[in-house]
Amino acid sequence: MPRCLFCTSEKNTPSYLPDTHFNNHTFQYLRCNSCGLIYLDPFPSDEDYKVMYPPTYQAGANPQIIPDDLKLPGLRFPYGKHYELIERYAPGKKLADYGCGHANFVVNVMAKGYSCDGVEFNPDHIKVLKEEVKAADFYSIPEFLADLSPKYDLIRLSYVLEHLDHPLEITRKLIARLNPGGVLLIEGPIETNPSLAFWVRKMYFKLVKNKAATHSPTHIFFSNARNQRDFFKKAGLDELHFEVAENEWPFPENLKEAAGIGGKFKWTIAKISRALQHVFKKWGNTFIYIGRRNNAR
Ligand SMILES: [Zn+2]
Repeated sequence: MPRCLFCTSEKNTPSYLPDTHFNNHTFQYLRCNSCGLIYLDPFPSDEDYKVMYPPTYQAGANPQIIPDDLKLPGLRFPYGKHYELIERYAPGKKLADYGCGHANFVVNVMAKGYSCDGVEFNPDHIKVLKEEVKAADFYSIPEFLADLSPKYDLIRLSYVLEHLDHPLEITRKLIARLNPGGVLLIEGPIETNPSLAFWVRKMYFKLVKNKAATHSPTHIFFSNARNQRDFFKKAGLDELHFEVAENEWPFPENLKEAAGIGGKFKWTIAKISRALQHVFKKWGNTFIYIGRRNNAR
């Protein structure tokens, strides 16, 4: 029986999102009757994960120093926002980036005077990162989670949580690795949170029934601001900061990427949706969060 990843309720109904056929399996998206989380059923198997994240998914380090205010493709909050929150809420200078990818954030935050370790899932990729970024320590996920001793003032997860099929367990293990007063900095999508672009997408899926999707089901769940904040509370964190922003994704970010009339329509909707977010601050499909390990744990 599938269970909600956030509130553990077993009561669900099919969601508006169409099934996806991937790696000879059909995955559907269920909506939790209790908290509204949409989650994948079934979860990908080990074989599916190998196809979803082949070794070519990550290659080498990217040591490029990025301007603080640059909005990277697909992300809403520039590194400058992260530095501001780290400065305000992290009591010390020992950081870790869980799901560090090409170690670009690790390199950039070290240039700001912090110490930062990186964590990634592919052991071969870890070897390459260790060679290319000698100033930082890198760990595989099992290595990092096997050790539950407090060590960090802040652990960052940027667009990681939504890829996990046991997010509560991982979040709790990461909390265990925080020093007293330590915080988690988490950013990611809230794909079912109100925004103009969300309503347009939802209406489209409702109108175009039986549309066969074939995308890789990399996002295991789709949250909104409310159930996402409740999830962090349940994990054992006290909220210090929660901010929402509207990002173009999955609609085209610029006119060049917008193919045909459909693409231009989506680009226009994304643009209006972003403008509206400046008025309706709670609308938006992206969040950035800071939570402190609470005393109850
Ligand atoms: Zn739920």
